[in-house]
This record gives sequence, structure tokens and C-alpha cells, in this order.
Amino acid sequence: MMAEHPPGQRRQPASSASHTSDPNDAWRRIAPPPELQRCAAVATQAVATCPVCEHAHYRQLTVGFDYELRTCANPWRFVRCARCGHVWLNPRPAVEALPTIYPPNYYAYNYDQQINRLAQWGKQQLDRLKLRSILRALGRAPSSFLDIGCGQGRYLRAMAEWGVSRQQIYGLELDEAIVRRLCAEGYRAFCCRVETCESIAPGQIDLATMFHVIEHVDSPRTVVHRVARWLAPGGVFAVETPNIDSLDARLFADRWWGGYHIPRHWNLFTPETLARLLQDAGFEIVTTRYQTGHSFWMYSLHHRLRYAGRPHPRAARWFDPFQSLLPLVGFTAFDLLRGRLGFRTSAMLMLARKPG
Ligand SMILES: [Zn+2]
Repeated sequence: MMAEHPPGQRRQPASSASHTSDPNDAWRRIAPPPELQRCAAVATQAVATCPVCEHAHYRQLTVGFDYELRTCANPWRFVRCARCGHVWLNPRPAVEALPTIYPPNYYAYNYDQQINRLAQWGKQQLDRLKLRSILRALGRAPSSFLDIGCGQGRYLRAMAEWGVSRQQIYGLELDEAIVRRLCAEGYRAFCCRVETCESIAPGQIDLATMFHVIEHVDSPRTVVHRVARWLAPGGVFAVETPNIDSLDARLFADRWWGGYHIPRHWNLFTPETLARLLQDAGFEIVTTRYQTGHSFWMYSLHHRLRYAGRPHPRAARWFDPFQSLLPLVGFTAFDLLRGRLGFRTSAMLMLARKPG
């Protein structure tokens, strides 16, 4: 998992908000919770059109703060497209704010070291189930593999164990030290963003995965089109991202939902908007699986207890996914069961095929 650092190609003047159906700026004056009042505000940029369908009309969905990492004092607003229903952060952090909102200790970079052994073991089991279900959908062993946002390379290693040659296993990751280590192990790892990566030839990849990355990127359309180009005919693309059409997203819609991950999640999809994005790039949807959204349940409760009304910081700690195991196990079991019963959880895994 990694955060793609966007280039800010779509910087718009603040006045672009006047192109929309929602000129109300009252949300900008909402005061941050006391814990965030000492933070500075970061620079922002407006995103005037829907990142999925490019429509210019939207309405406000919710306003919140960086409840999780407390890096900045800005209020942040999610808006929903009036045409396709896609949700995006508008405005979002400007390029120069990225080192602030992604501090060096950002857990996506070293998640495995921060959780305890039992949680690590549980995560490995869930990862295995996920990979197995993807390989089943592929219907054959892949001849080449790409993981976008490969982190420490745990999926690259898993594919090597499944028999794919390391010279056919590609990883994109923004942490240079990790990329050097993976290259030394024989993988084809590159330190670059999807949008600017020139190291992968068209039609070369059999299976591409992107787990919890697309919600961070500047232009999901560009990313999906590039992956489509890299895939061989018949190749499969597996995308995992938060699902805003889920029970926890609805229960905590007012501002506390963990899946908002303000201000680092810039695009929030429903199964319908994600399918549209993929189909617009020429993919056929194979299936959608629902994974466990345990961290989103935990953070939703944590944020509500810590920041809503009279704060309850001690109770909130019970729902910090890094500090509290029992509720984490409970929500994982709850969502595993719901996913099996056909309910839409808040973590969707969509498999799409490039026509052969
Ligand atoms: Zn739209």
C-alpha cells in the first residue's frame, strides 16, 4: 500500500467553485476541534470537475478534519457529482502540502512494523485469501505480475512463491530504499508514479493489482487508462478501494467515517462509479468481492468518541486499530460474515478484464 503523490496537473483557481451548483462557502468557516487548533493550515487547490465523468456540477456531501494524523487545521469538503454520483475531495491539498499530510511515519509505509504479531498474522491470512480469490478469477497462473503501490513487496513475494519468475514481477513504489531492496532481490521494482512510469512496455502484464491506492491519486482516469495499456489482451486488473455505499459509510456519513481518511483520500467510489471508470478505459467487469473494512469501523468509532461533542479520549483508544486488538478482531469477523452473505462492506475488490 502506498500513497501516490499527485503532480497537481489540474490546479484550478479558487474561483472555479462558481462553476458548480453549490456556491455555498459556509463550510470553510467551520472551526477545527481543539486538538487541531494548534496546527497550521496547508495550501489547497480546487478540483472543479468530476474525476470520473468530468461533469462540473456537484453538491456538498460532508465536511471534516484530519482526525487521524492531525497534520493540518483545514476543514475539508467531500462533494458528490450530480451526474454519476462519484465523491471527491474539493478542494484538496496542493502539491506543496504533500510532505505535511504524508508525514514520514505515515503508517502505509511501515504498517507491518506498527501492528502487533497477532494482527500481522491475521493480515497475512486475509492477504492470502484475497490473492487466492484473484487467481481463481484469472483462471490460470499469471505469467507476469504488477503491484502498484507494492510497499515492502509482500504481494511480489507471494507471486514468486506461486511460481512466477522474479524477472516477470513488477512493483511500483515511491519509497526509494524499498525499491532498491526489491531490485536487489531480483524483482523489477521502480520508484515512480503510474502516470509518469516509462519502465513497463505496453501489453506486457498478465495480472495487475492496486490495493488501496486509487483513492489517493490525482487522476484515477489517467491511472486506469495506463494500466489498461500495460495489460496483455485477456489480462486482469484487481482494484481494491473503500466503498462509500456501505453500512459504516452510511452510519458515520456525517463526518466520522474512517474511509474518508481526510485529507489523504481524494476519490471515494461506489461499485457503480468504479465500474464506470474501468469500463470507460475499455475493461469488462469480471466480479466484485467485498473484503473486511475493519479499520474503517474502528476509526469511525474512534473519531466520533474523540472529537464529537464532549471528547472521550480513553474510550476512543479502544477503537484505535494500532492499539486495540479485540474490537479489530470483532469487526473483521463481522465484515467477513457480511461479505460472505452478499452484503456490500466498505472495502471492495473489483476484478476487471482487458478484452482478449
Ligand atoms: Zn461524475
